[in-house]
Amino acid sequence: MSNPIDPAQPWDLQTARSLYNINRWGAKYFDINEAGHVVATPLQEAGASVDITDVIEEAKGRGLKFPVLIRFQDILRNRVESINTAFRNSITEFNYQGSYRGVFPIKVNQLREVVEEILEAGKPFNFGLEVGSKPELFAGLALQNQIGSLIICNGYKDAGFIKMAILGQKLGKKVIMVVEKLEELRQIITISKQLGVEPSVGIRARLHSKGAGKWAESGGENAKFGLSTSELLAATEMLKSEGLGQCFKLLHFHIGSQVPDILTVKKAVQEASRFYAKLFKMGFNIEYMDVGGGLGVDYDGSRSAFDSSTNYTLQEYTNDIVYYVGDVCNAEKVPHPHIISESGRAIVAHHSMLVVEVFGAIEKIRSGNGIHYTENEHPLVKELLDIRKNISKLNKLEAYHDALERKDDAHHMFTLGMLELPDKAKIENLYWDIGQEVVQSFKGQAYIPEEIVKLEDSLGDQYLCNFSVFQSLLDHWALGQLFPIMPLSKLNERPTREGTLVDITCDSDGQINKFIDLRDVRDTLPLHKLGTNGNGQQEPYYIGIFLMGAYQDIMGDLHNLFGRVNEVHVFLDPDEPAGYYVEEIIEGTTIGQALASVQYDENELKRRMKAQIDEAIKSDRMKPSEAMRLLDDYERGLKDYTYLTF
Ligand SMILES: *Cc1c(COP(=O)(O)O)cnc(C)c1O
Repeated sequence: MSNPIDPAQPWDLQTARSLYNINRWGAKYFDINEAGHVVATPLQEAGASVDITDVIEEAKGRGLKFPVLIRFQDILRNRVESINTAFRNSITEFNYQGSYRGVFPIKVNQLREVVEEILEAGKPFNFGLEVGSKPELFAGLALQNQIGSLIICNGYKDAGFIKMAILGQKLGKKVIMVVEKLEELRQIITISKQLGVEPSVGIRARLHSKGAGKWAESGGENAKFGLSTSELLAATEMLKSEGLGQCFKLLHFHIGSQVPDILTVKKAVQEASRFYAKLFKMGFNIEYMDVGGGLGVDYDGSRSAFDSSTNYTLQEYTNDIVYYVGDVCNAEKVPHPHIISESGRAIVAHHSMLVVEVFGAIEKIRSGNGIHYTENEHPLVKELLDIRKNISKLNKLEAYHDALERKDDAHHMFTLGMLELPDKAKIENLYWDIGQEVVQSFKGQAYIPEEIVKLEDSLGDQYLCNFSVFQSLLDHWALGQLFPIMPLSKLNERPTREGTLVDITCDSDGQINKFIDLRDVRDTLPLHKLGTNGNGQQEPYYIGIFLMGAYQDIMGDLHNLFGRVNEVHVFLDPDEPAGYYVEEIIEGTTIGQALASVQYDENELKRRMKAQIDEAIKSDRMKPSEAMRLLDDYERGLKDYTYLTF
């Protein structure tokens, strides 16, 4: 990692933009304003800009505690429109004969407000839903009320699932059940006969093509879903022998989420199109080609085939799909099918961001930390003072090794009882001072030894943030997925510290220590020194974690019983003085609710506390007034937010 903040360079907003890369990953939805605050522009150039700092103030004014998740409903609409427009452009450009029918895979974000907004924005485009489980189907059937609208059912199915899907069909929806394994087809046929309905069947083909990146195993020959070529043929035989060949309506494939390289898409589409063409020629009048998900999001803004990026644009993605399906069909002389895509991540990722509050920092290096050195220091302190004094003349790596040796010696002496605390403190401080000088001397060099890189990481500050990685950022913990992260204000000032973010769970994994970078991955994030106000209290410092809308909302867990976070939903409205308003507030989990989810009954807890308090009064350990106040605090506290309140 190289330090991009060259103190010799002047600081301006443009430097801030490029330091945090906001104009690249922000996809025109996020920028920095003249006040040095991050703003959201949910309709890109076409609408108002929302100063996140104002939203934070409004949330505070309404008594909301942090962390807070902000949803921009207009970004959802904009994404739905963008993807539909992109497919339409490609269809026109390549003179494609079928239409585009997108569906939103609910699993990527099941929140009702999100799904409703997408369906609403998708109405002009006949946008449908994709479900992968019974609960998702139950939600989808009720929410998607347009006649003729698509509901694609993926995932393994049982009799209950199949029955409910067929019921949806009776209601006038186009419910297509995608066969994930051969036995499912037998069951679909049996149940639909019982109900007297012809089912609409799709088949997921297990392609040879698979993606790269963190989700590659969803595709390829070892994927857990889909039919191999011989199973596919067996399925066609089964349909034919039942006289249900006309029910085979859709061919499906899915190569995994966040496909970083467009080549993967090109290959998979060509392979799947051949399947379609051959099946069509066998007499199956398949209407839809479903290209699944995988459309990626450029989380780091590098526009590369790196895991957290994509080396293609939305338009390039739709162009390649439309072009290759058409191309193969033309070559095989079969009609162009309607194209379905199941993009989840690309529709919802941008629309939400998490605001976390920094409540302290652990600094390894403090300039002027008040330690005075005299003539009479401990020999180890003297030696380190010597190294520090002469560092400009010394070989830097050697100086570092010498300092490290002294620090180790000090550690051993301390354990043996031969070193006092004040001397230990001096030795540690000198070691970090020297470490910083050594790291500084390697700045800008083409090659930096591994141990110096490690030293630099350990010199970084730890910013204490009031949130849980396990609740809000599970993919960072589980898969090392990177999200854009930056301070939400003070961007007209140069950040002078480098730090990692640690959360409030009692888990050493509860931290963010990998950050986006154009070329590589950064181990620390440039941050501002925490300020204090007149009363010596720390000034609020808020950090935004962006592009959180896909998967993170639902995958979070209750580690340490930190629950769901408070949410606000922002809507643009030209009639409002600020051009927007904060409509909905969804309160996060309370302590009582978090406890209830692991079988603690609120009333039982209160009863047990009361019994102990009565006992304490009786045995004179507490005065009744004090005891009642404690009981009151306990009972009221159960309604509080699970996170810290400052
Ligand atoms: C998860 C999933 C999707 C969504 O993928 P994204 O990469 O988020 O667009 C689409 N289709 C299927 C079958 C899935 O399992």
